Formats: sequence, C-alpha cells, structure tokens
Amino acid sequence: MRRSVNHSFESLNRYQLKLLATARVQIAEIYQSIQGEGLLAGTPSAFVRTSGCNLRCRWCDTPFTSWNPTGIEQSIEMIVDRVRLLACRHVVLTGGEPLLFDEVVPLVHKLRDLSMHVTIETAGTISRDMQVDLMSISPKLSGSAPSIDEHPLWYARHNAARHNKSAIVDLVRHSPYQIKFVIDHLNDVTEVDFWLADLNCIDSRRVLLMPQGTDQIDLQEKDLWLAELCTERGFLFAPRHHIAWFGLTRGT
Ligand code: SF4
Repeated sequence: MRRSVNHSFESLNRYQLKLLATARVQIAEIYQSIQGEGLLAGTPSAFVRTSGCNLRCRWCDTPFTSWNPTGIEQSIEMIVDRVRLLACRHVVLTGGEPLLFDEVVPLVHKLRDLSMHVTIETAGTISRDMQVDLMSISPKLSGSAPSIDEHPLWYARHNAARHNKSAIVDLVRHSPYQIKFVIDHLNDVTEVDFWLADLNCIDSRRVLLMPQGTDQIDLQEKDLWLAELCTERGFLFAPRHHIAWFGLTRGT
C-alpha cells in the first residue's frame, strides 16, 4: 500500500526548515529541455542536475557529476528562483545522485508547494522519506561496474552500493514510479528478471528497458532486439530519444 506523505511546506519539521534557510547543494546545471526518456518522454521540463554520485558506472554519460564532479553550491532559494524563471510545470531532479543530499527533501516540498510536478531520477541506492510525482529509478546491473584494473577502489565501492533492495522497495512505496534498466547485452535481461523476482513488488507495466549507448548506429542495432524482448516480457521499450534529438550534449 502506498504511504501517504504530507508534502505541504508547513509540514516541514524544524530541522528541515533550518536546512531550507542554510542548505546549499552542489549544482552542475539547471536548464530547460524536453524529457527524452521514460513515461514522460516528450514533456517540456526544467532539469536540476546535482553534482556528486555514490556510484561510478563505466558508461556514465554525465561524468561531470560523478568521476569529476563540477558545479557550484546553490541555496534552495536560488535553485527554486532559477527553476521558476524557466516557466515549466514539470521539474526533473537528476544527477549524479540527487538523493545523496538531505536538502533534496525541503527542495521537493518547496517545488510541490508551487504546484510543480516533480520527478526524481535516481539509481535507487538511497531512500528518503518523501513523496514525488514520479520516482524514476534506474538500478545499476553488474555490467555497469568500472574496470577493476583501472579503478579497483571504485570497482569495490560501486558493487557494494549499486544493489539496495530495501531502498528500492521504500521508494516505490512512497511515490508513483518507473523502473528503467539500462541494457547493454542480452545477458543483462536475465539479471533484470532476477532483480524483479527478488523485489517481488514491481508492476511490469512500469518496467522500462533502455539501450546503453551514446552512438546512434549502436543504439539503432540494440533497439531492434530490445523492443522485441520488451514485447515478449510485457515491459515498455524506452528509446534514448534525447540522443537522437540532441546527441550527447550538456544542457539538453
Ligand atoms: S549512477 Fe548515474 S551519475 Fe552515477 S555514475 Fe552511474 S550513470 Fe553516472
């Protein structure tokens, strides 16, 4: 059963109100674009990209928020002011890993108090006691780990953190959700089956399989077999629209 969470700004406790006044989050970029992935693909949205991640995927397409985190610290007021200027009803908090930051809770409260539709894009390794309009969870399969030879420390840290069953169960209980698996090889789908059976609480109509890659030709080849596989299993196929629309470009 979905837990009801009061998201009114007035419901914030003293600690959260203090955070709101003093907190600063490292932000890599804030921009307006079109959501290119998942159930809300095609929706004009404001994107707030936090910098910093507890994982190090070998194919990370935002290394400026993980391997080499960049950005400047901004207060919640500054972030909200910037988002309001973009004049979008939909806001996507993405990263990096936005759930790393305590400040994301009062930020979400503030945005929802302004009647904005809030999506959080997360790898699902951390849970927070709050509700959003769409929790977009992209669990990282074993093939996402960085090279053990080049990054032995991060290989171990990544594998220790990437699979957190209780965090995912908690996230899907709090909010409407989608679970988006990035698929590189056919074998990855067997791992998806294992994850879903283990979680035992996921609606297959909210499971999306998305091809891994940033090269159009490579993606087109994967699209063919992945779309067929989704049909067989009752999952949704999630093309990487934003690569076709914009290429691998920051701020899109
Ligand atoms: S979880 Fe996302 S931001 Fe973090 S390393 Fe993986 S792809 Fe990059």
